[in-house]
Amino acid sequence: MKVFKFGGASINSVERMQHVAKIIASFKGEKIFIIISAMGKTTNALEKVVDAFFDGRKDDALQLFEQVKQQHLNTLKYLVTVNWQQAENHLKDFFTEVEWLLHDKPVRDYDYYYDQVVCCGELLSTAMMSAYLNEAGIQNKWIDVRDIVRTDDNFRDAGIDWDFTAQKVNSDVLPLFSEYDIVLTQGFIGATDENESTTLGREGSDYSAAIFANLLNAESQTIWKDVEGVMNADPKEFKDAVFLSELSYDEVIEMAYYGAQVIHPKTIKPLQNKNIPMHVRCFLKPDLPGTIISAKPSHNLPPIIVVKENQALIKLESKDFSFVGEHYVSDLYELFANLKIKPNLVQTGAISILCCLDDRQDKIEKLALSASEAFEVTVEKNLTLLTIRHYTREKFDALTNGKTILLTQRTEETIQALLR
Ligand code: ASP
Ligand code: MG
Repeated sequence: MKVFKFGGASINSVERMQHVAKIIASFKGEKIFIIISAMGKTTNALEKVVDAFFDGRKDDALQLFEQVKQQHLNTLKYLVTVNWQQAENHLKDFFTEVEWLLHDKPVRDYDYYYDQVVCCGELLSTAMMSAYLNEAGIQNKWIDVRDIVRTDDNFRDAGIDWDFTAQKVNSDVLPLFSEYDIVLTQGFIGATDENESTTLGREGSDYSAAIFANLLNAESQTIWKDVEGVMNADPKEFKDAVFLSELSYDEVIEMAYYGAQVIHPKTIKPLQNKNIPMHVRCFLKPDLPGTIISAKPSHNLPPIIVVKENQALIKLESKDFSFVGEHYVSDLYELFANLKIKPNLVQTGAISILCCLDDRQDKIEKLALSASEAFEVTVEKNLTLLTIRHYTREKFDALTNGKTILLTQRTEETIQALLR
C-alpha cells in the first residue's frame, strides 16, 4: 500500500482537481490511502473567520464564512455534474457545523474555536474530491478522519493518541481496502475523546500522512507539491538554489527543525521508525522522480540554507550583577515549556541570557513579564535568523555581508547567525 498527500496548491482550481484525478488514475490497480489538504488558501480564510468571531464581530465572521462557502459551492458545480446534489448535501453538513458555532458567543479559549472552524477546510475539499473521483470512474471511500485520529485537547497543536488511533486504523480503515483500492481522507485534523475537533498545527497534513503510513505499514509515502522536490534553499529567494535528489531522514529532520519549509517537522519520525521512504514529487510534472528521503545517509550535500524572518531577540540580564546560574536557566526553560515556546537559539553568558524566538506578540509579552521578576528584560524585533547546514566560510560571508551579526552559534555541521 502507498500513502499519498496532495497539498492545497494541487487542488486550488477545477482544472487542478481534474489533474490530480489523472495522477491518481495512473496508479490504477494499486491500494492507495490518500490525504488531501484544504483547497488553496482556505485555511488562511478560515483563520480570518475565527478571528472575527473571537473578536465578537459575528456578522463579519458569518460574512467571511459565506465567502468560503460560495467558493466551494461554485467549484463543486463545475467539478461534479451527475451526483452534484448529493455532494452539495455533504458539504452543507460541514457548513452547518460551523454556522451553528458562529451564532454563539465565544466562551472558551481562542484555540478551541480555531480548531472547530478551521477543520472544515479539509472536510470540504476531500468531500468534493471524493465525489469527483467517483464520477470520473475512480472508485473510492471517503472517511471523516476525526473518527480515526484520536488526539488530546491541546488545540492547534494536538498530540496523537497512538494506541487508540492504531486500533481504529486496524478495525475501521484496513478492512475498507478489501472493497476499495482508494481510501480518501483529511490531513491536519483529529478529534478528542469528547468528539471535539482538533488540529495538528499548520501544514500538519504531511504529519497525518506519516501517521497513516506508519500505522498501515505502507511501502512508501508521497507528498505531491508544486515544486520539483526538495531544494537546498528557497528558490524564490535564491536564484542559484539546487535540487536535491536524495536526503536522509536525519538531514530532513534537521532542516525542518531549523525552519525549512520542506515538510512539517513531525513527519519524519513515524516514517523513520518503520523505515518507510518518503518521496517529494511535483504534481505539475508527475514524470519527474522528485526527492527521495530514506535511511540512506546523505553525502556531499551542498550548503543548505534556511532563512527565518520575523525573529525577536530577548535579552535577560541579571539585575544585581549576579551570575546566571543553573536555577535561572532551569526557570527559564520551565517558562518556555509553560508558554509552549520553542526558542530558535539560546546563548548563556556570565550575567545574561540571549534567546531568539519567533515574534509571537502574545508569547513574548508573557515571557518578558514573567522573566522581569528576576531579570532586566529587553526585546529587539524584526531580525532574521540564518541557518546554514554544511556551511562553508565563503557561503557564510556572502550571506551575512552588509548585515550586523548579533549572535552566532556553530557546530561542525551547522552555523546560525541572528542578523539585523
Ligand atoms: N490546510 C492546513 C494548512 O494550510 C494543513 C495542511 O495543508 O497541511 O496549514
Ligand atoms: Mg498546505
